[in-house]
Amino acid sequence: MRVLFVASEAGPFVKTGGLGDVAGALPKALAQKNADVRVVIPKYKELNWQVRDKLRFVKWFNVRVGWREQFCGVWEAYINGVTYYVLDNERYFNRDEAYGHYDDAERFAFFDRAVLDMLRQIDWQPDLIHCNDWQTGMIPVLLKFQYKRNDMFYWNMKTIYSIHNIAFQGVFDPNILPELFGFDMELYTNTCLKFDAGVSFMKGGLYYSDIITTVSNTYAYEIQTPEYGQRLDGVLRDRAYALRGITNGIDYDEFNPKTDKNIYKNYDVNSLKNKIMNKTELQKELGLTVDEKIPMIAMVTRLTPQKGIDLLVNISDRLLQQNIQLVVLGTGDKPYEDHFKWLNYRYGNKVSANIKFDNSLANKIYAASDMFLMPSLFEPCGLGQLIALRYGSIPIVRETGGLKDTVTAYNEYTGEGNGFGFQNYNADELYNIIQYALNIYENKKKWNSLVKNAMKSDNSWDRSAQVYLNLYRELTGID
Ligand code: ADP
Repeated sequence: MRVLFVASEAGPFVKTGGLGDVAGALPKALAQKNADVRVVIPKYKELNWQVRDKLRFVKWFNVRVGWREQFCGVWEAYINGVTYYVLDNERYFNRDEAYGHYDDAERFAFFDRAVLDMLRQIDWQPDLIHCNDWQTGMIPVLLKFQYKRNDMFYWNMKTIYSIHNIAFQGVFDPNILPELFGFDMELYTNTCLKFDAGVSFMKGGLYYSDIITTVSNTYAYEIQTPEYGQRLDGVLRDRAYALRGITNGIDYDEFNPKTDKNIYKNYDVNSLKNKIMNKTELQKELGLTVDEKIPMIAMVTRLTPQKGIDLLVNISDRLLQQNIQLVVLGTGDKPYEDHFKWLNYRYGNKVSANIKFDNSLANKIYAASDMFLMPSLFEPCGLGQLIALRYGSIPIVRETGGLKDTVTAYNEYTGEGNGFGFQNYNADELYNIIQYALNIYENKKKWNSLVKNAMKSDNSWDRSAQVYLNLYRELTGID
């Protein structure tokens, strides 16, 4: 199985968000299952220096962007069983930020065509091209209308298009069709790429790929509704038969309470006593009352409306009348930041508001806390709850997107489940489920068995990679 994984960012080279995580971890996990996986990304100014030095120049060629020819250099590195191709054009990519430039349409029009041209240049025929997010959305379109029509080399290549963030759709002036791609206006007038008065890269990926995936089953369903679909729900309903949800995993080596060097005391499911020391040490560090019996509720998140912060703001005073501790780590919208700073001031040794980005503190919080809140308005997959489960901090989530797929409600009678959930975007529902969780917390036997369930949940990339591999096999007919 030969797979070309195309993304605008990929760990370990460059990572600005969840896509970088997936594009780093999934190819690595697929390679461990003996697939020939190669990743292609742009050569930005900022590439992780630890791996940048491994790049070796392969060759250069010209890429057609509309009526112009642009230089493209191919660099290659082999890391963890995966071949990385990094495409170089200084005019387009040697800049401070990866995205958000006035000519993003041209930059990624170049990239999409360069990816397809590169295959001919290095004479490698993947069975399947796996595209991700809007930046790569025109690859299935170019493949169908230009490359397959002109060159047998491309005939057997299938495409998968994955949505990581449906909010960014790459919508530009329709003139880019002739100017940057050499198409006429038909794809605009027949509405296949049309979005309002523009054309959308993402819509191209959605209509012209063989299979569409997104990062959880529930989100695959939700984005077919107007509530979550960001106005692409109609297209997704049209192509519902080709749409699948595959839940992301986390790197089980990186997030492992048994070996994590960031936390105070390592532990695993058989040494839960050591988890308690993480709590008391963190209480000391953050200036909270040091008492292992007080339930610690945590949040590590961007402070934005997506994350359901409004619900917590609404109930925080009510909640803090009880004997609990609230630890927040996050940055984002100023009113939310101010609210948590105020709670910190108001409730002193019961609340710790940490308004910053700090990976090491994040892990300490996952290890120390008893409960982890994610009352999100929407959540395509969510990593926070997966890390919390791994560290035995019980997730309390709104049942949406990936949260619904990865957290199953605890049943105190059968002992099944790994967390708590509520359905409606409503502050009272959040309040009530926290009360229920606090109730269960009082019964140490029940709580410990719940923590064990959580820590035993399997959300490794290994499992998700197998699901992708099965899909690749189904699509290509190759074993
Ligand atoms: P999203 O990608 O929408 O922000 P996820 O739950 O998928 O949400 O991933 C968020 C990741 O970022 C988690 O691993 C979380 O621990 C981490 N994170 C969020 N805010 C912070 C912060 N302030 N400091 C450290 N890590 C953070």
